[in-house]
Amino acid sequence: LRNDQLDQWDRECFFHPSTHLAQHARGEAPNRVIRTASGVFIEDRDGNRLLDAFAGLYCVNVGYGRQEIAEAIATQSKELAYYHAYVGHGTEASITLAKMILDRAPKNMSKVYFGLGGSDANETNVKLVWYMNNILGRPEKKKIISRWRGYHGSGLMTGSLTGLELFHKKFDLPLAQVIHTEAPYYYRRKDLAQSEADFVAHCVAELEALIEREGADTIAAFIGEPVLGTGGVVPPPAGYWAAIQKVLNKHDILLIADEVVTGFGRLGTMFGSDHYGIKPDIITIAKGLTSAYAPLSGSIVSDKVWNVLERGTDEFGAIGHGWTYSAHPIGAAAGVANLNLIDDLKLVENAGTVGAYLRKSMTEALGNHSHVGEVRGEGMLCAVEFVEDKDDRAFFDASKKIGPQVSSALLSEGVIARAMPQGDILGFAPPFCLSREEADTIVAAVARAVRAVLG
Ligand code: PLP
Repeated sequence: LRNDQLDQWDRECFFHPSTHLAQHARGEAPNRVIRTASGVFIEDRDGNRLLDAFAGLYCVNVGYGRQEIAEAIATQSKELAYYHAYVGHGTEASITLAKMILDRAPKNMSKVYFGLGGSDANETNVKLVWYMNNILGRPEKKKIISRWRGYHGSGLMTGSLTGLELFHKKFDLPLAQVIHTEAPYYYRRKDLAQSEADFVAHCVAELEALIEREGADTIAAFIGEPVLGTGGVVPPPAGYWAAIQKVLNKHDILLIADEVVTGFGRLGTMFGSDHYGIKPDIITIAKGLTSAYAPLSGSIVSDKVWNVLERGTDEFGAIGHGWTYSAHPIGAAAGVANLNLIDDLKLVENAGTVGAYLRKSMTEALGNHSHVGEVRGEGMLCAVEFVEDKDDRAFFDASKKIGPQVSSALLSEGVIARAMPQGDILGFAPPFCLSREEADTIVAAVARAVRAVLG
């Protein structure tokens, strides 16, 4: 097919996710058809080769073109493309993967429920928590606390949990059972606190006040990403998770760690929960579970949650929650090959060391720029935040679209980063196999793009 034919069909037929539809239909937005990819590079049909410093949507963690995963998928689909996981059925791939996940997960984790993507896994988590509290005879304990700027998916419940206006606007969200609290975004709230410790105390006070207002007996769980991702790539201030967890324990509120981005190595540890000493009751996994070679997600539930669910089924019968594609064998085969590859190539370690190198180089190149407020990150996550004025930290007027302008200048330099959806923040989440030379390429390109847009 010719490119102009694809372009026409794309505009005529394809409803793209999270897209300004009118601009797309008018041909104002770029329409790039990706043809192939290898390592950290993708290539489009026009032959442009781009360094993907966002690993797709922070998901192609082992890098593109891994034959081991492609072959595992091919073998699985030839032997058994599908069988369901209902009422005690399984496949070798899905059972093996469950075992491999638990071998890597924090010690108190008990079982894995498989879904397809991060959104449905978080829907599952909320249903499990509600089911659990019904079994425990406390049906009024159902609200879920999430943070502003958190991202947990796009469904009705998960879009509600997501604390970004774009995902609520015109959808009548958030749902009534969802309440939001302060994001642990120290840089943006310097007005409130002199030190990180003061700011943590402020976050704790906000959470306590919310629980007091709503009543602890109406709140089931708190959900959070170890590092805020789509909300701006924001690592928490020191001591944040320990302090939050203390409040949750006091009020008997479960903790759901959404590790869709941080799970399987992105922070330089197998889980973000290990990195910050978080002790979750449920962990959400997706993206890095298969490095996006096939769709698969999971809810890892702790002993505490499992024991109640198991007991409940003896009293109330089978648990009525499942998808046709739960534990899909092709996703599971991809997951097994992916986790083996992460181990064999020591990619978790590489994410930690090359990620730290990327951040250090980015800070050296841009930290003194008058419009770069902060360079931050953790592991193989990095963000550059642009401000009009470094002293008062105000963002540029949104109409100036500084973030999108820098990301499109960067694209002209052959590097893909993501203009995060709120504020002028450029996010980087490269594949874990990134080399130091490739990190240098990213930083040099960002420096040129920033100079082109901001001087
Ligand atoms: N949770 C987090 C932390 C995410 O970053 C995402 C997606 O970016 C999701 C959940 C939703 O995952 P999915 O897009 O696979 O539904």
